Amino acid sequence: MVWDFSTEPEFEAKLAWARQFMRERVYPLETLPLDDGQFRRLTAPLKEETKQAGLFAAHLPPELGGTGYGQVKLALLNEIVGSSAIIGPVVFGSQPPDSGNAELIAIAGTADQKARYMRPLLDGELRSCFSMTEQGRGSDPTLIETRAVLDGGEWVINGQKWFSSNGSVADFIIVMCRTNDRENAHDRFSMIIVPKGTPGVHIRDVPSMQHPYERPPMYANESEITYENVRVPAENILGEEGKAFVLAQQRLGPGRIHHCMRWLGQSKRAFDMLCERAVSRSVHGSMLAEKQSVQNWIADSLAEIEAARLMTLHAAWRIDRDGVAAARTEISMIKFFGAQVLHNVIDRALQVHGSLGYSADLPLEEMYRTARSARIYDGPDEVHRVTVARRVLRGYEPVDMPTEHVPTRRLAAMAVYGALLADADRT
Ligand SMILES: Cc1cc2nc3c(=O)[nH]c(=O)nc-3n(C[C@H](O)[C@H](O)[C@H](O)COP(=O)(O)OP(=O)(O)OC[C@H]3O[C@@H](n4cnc5c(N)ncnc54)[C@H](O)[C@@H]3O)c2cc1C
Repeated sequence: MVWDFSTEPEFEAKLAWARQFMRERVYPLETLPLDDGQFRRLTAPLKEETKQAGLFAAHLPPELGGTGYGQVKLALLNEIVGSSAIIGPVVFGSQPPDSGNAELIAIAGTADQKARYMRPLLDGELRSCFSMTEQGRGSDPTLIETRAVLDGGEWVINGQKWFSSNGSVADFIIVMCRTNDRENAHDRFSMIIVPKGTPGVHIRDVPSMQHPYERPPMYANESEITYENVRVPAENILGEEGKAFVLAQQRLGPGRIHHCMRWLGQSKRAFDMLCERAVSRSVHGSMLAEKQSVQNWIADSLAEIEAARLMTLHAAWRIDRDGVAAARTEISMIKFFGAQVLHNVIDRALQVHGSLGYSADLPLEEMYRTARSARIYDGPDEVHRVTVARRVLRGYEPVDMPTEHVPTRRLAAMAVYGALLADADRT
């Protein structure tokens, strides 16, 4: 089997353009404390440039205005875009949760839902939210309690969601609700679109490690949302009644690996800062680069990033070849491994900068706080490890252990090699 991740010269030229664009146009924006209006105004022309370059919303198929690049090319592009965790994806039209929500409506939406929500979402005119997790029921969404019942041609929604990204800035919310009591838990839930301003929707932004205080609204915030007798038309259901889990899998599968692709960019940026600091700072008579512990950090970080990169590209290649469902082990593997690498490399880069790294004068402290959540969202590390282990173990059969097993194997081996052994003993 040959894995070749090189691409044609035209695409390499696009990647080179993206690298320069990120350095010259996107990184400087990171330092400005912008409000939502300023952020939208400053990023609008940048989006035009990425559209002109044919790199906007590259994850979408061409009929939806994307490029139709496969996952491998997306990985090569996203590792560049992700080096600026928040602004890069916005400017390249691939920021979650909007990117995944647009895909959901593309897969399951009616013509009216596509016109009303998907197109403006793709054009960056609307923002959206995906409201699934409930407190303590995130890892096992079959426990979701938010209910929607049909009443006079309307869905009436009651319940409370937790950590819905973009909650307070979204123009519409896709809410995962229990809509029936079927025996199979995976057939009980539906997704329903709730437009901004619908009476009965109460939103509180939850301060977090990532956003401990007032922060500019350009950042996606995580919200607690209470739905109190929220009424929306029956046609606001997205896809088939009871089929939300199938849809959620279609949304989360590729979404997870897109996170991993972007984390490579973050890891590489932290790694560059680690190395630059090592060759710039002298303490106790020698450069940091000459201290063995720093050398260990550099070597470990490079090896981990390289491993994560190859695992990501391999998972991407597997999706391109066999589809998302077939690549579930690879996706889960890179989700927890990539999140850990991201965390490790940023941690070492921060450490080598000492108090400067801890200060908000450098981006490392924010990268560190942001990276910590990667081990929780879209499935915590432990859940993905369970997925990997379960799928791997399907390929193993029980064996007689240990007393019968070893003699049985020895007998079988003697049947093959016994005569040879006897000959060898005689000579
Ligand atoms: C920054 C951020 C953004 C988010 N955005 C959204 C969003 O837009 N929409 C949305 O719906 N949700 C969102 N979430 C929620 C996220 O999906 C959940 O936090 C996640 O699924 C875990 O659920 P929980 O927080 O309820 O933890 P719980 O389900 O209570 O789990 C707690 C811990 O238990 C452990 N655990 C769980 N299951 C197992 C297991 N099988 N084996 C061993 N250990 C286990 C893990 O360590 C886990 O962290 C976001 C979360 C974060 C941090």
